Amino acid sequence: MAHNRQFLSLAQARAPFFVGVDVGGTNIKVGVVDDDGSPLSWLSIATEVERGPDDGVKRMAGAIERAVQDAGLAKKDIARVGLGTPGTMDVAQGILLTPGNLPGWWNFPIKQALADACGLPVTFANDARSAAYGEFWAGSGRVLHSMVLFTLGTGVGGGIIIGDLLVTGEHSAGSELGHLIIDHNDDARMCSCGQRGHIEAYASASAVVKRTEEALEAGRASSLKKRIDSGEELTGLMIDEEAERGDELAMEIILETARYLGIGITSAMHAVDPNGVVIGGAMTFGEHESKIGRAFLERVKQEVRERALPTLADLTTIDFAKLGGDAGFIGAAGLARRDYMQETKG
Ligand SMILES: [Zn+2]
Repeated sequence: MAHNRQFLSLAQARAPFFVGVDVGGTNIKVGVVDDDGSPLSWLSIATEVERGPDDGVKRMAGAIERAVQDAGLAKKDIARVGLGTPGTMDVAQGILLTPGNLPGWWNFPIKQALADACGLPVTFANDARSAAYGEFWAGSGRVLHSMVLFTLGTGVGGGIIIGDLLVTGEHSAGSELGHLIIDHNDDARMCSCGQRGHIEAYASASAVVKRTEEALEAGRASSLKKRIDSGEELTGLMIDEEAERGDELAMEIILETARYLGIGITSAMHAVDPNGVVIGGAMTFGEHESKIGRAFLERVKQEVRERALPTLADLTTIDFAKLGGDAGFIGAAGLARRDYMQETKG
């Protein structure tokens, strides 16, 4: 993806400074961000889930120290740390509950553990909600007063921000847009959560691969078949590449995905009525730079025009996210900044 972020030099940066930590099943990203949402440094370490949460937190603290040094700062210059992790979680208690991609880290009080390990106050949030806040604060949502974010990756994540309020919900499950229902039928597709008909079961990267496999098994001709037969693993990226080369099935799958997403977006628009909807995550088909990305976005908008209340269809902007894979740590830092501002105000 074309997200070669320029680091801000310390001379251009605006204090106070914050650190954002974005924990994923494979990697942990850590970055220092200034008061305006611009990163000064950034690094990534392997999560190595099997080493357990205590070891993970220790290495996070080490990465924070390195990122702060790389930015030309000292620990005393950091006002607060923001920590975003995959759910399920209890945000208020600062505890990981049963995150599917962090096995062995379940029921772990990660917020306090990181605060102890790095000696700084920590703000805790869901990773998709952090990414949404990052886009809202420093990316596509910068001009928006209220925003809904959908992220298309292995799963489908979401975030709802109204004013400066991030919708977390009473049980840390607010903004779970991946589980919006788009098919009520008894034979609707099964979601990773164990319920049927949720958008994640249709529009996530794994769902896109599954739908493509089904079409191939049903005998559809496609250039994808040749690549799979030669031993390559079918992925969202491969489907994107073959669509780019003119493969009909690949293009059909992508536009169908856009249609499913458009249905979910319409429901979110009816619930929230935001200024804008932002689409991010790893599977966005090259975004504006690619004709596939543009066709995908146009198909989403078409579906919304056909289904949404006319005023909302006319006035709500729908666009791709801007921060790419940096949205998580930038947003976690942004949420830390928000807590810091609230504390220092009073
Ligand atoms: Zn679900």
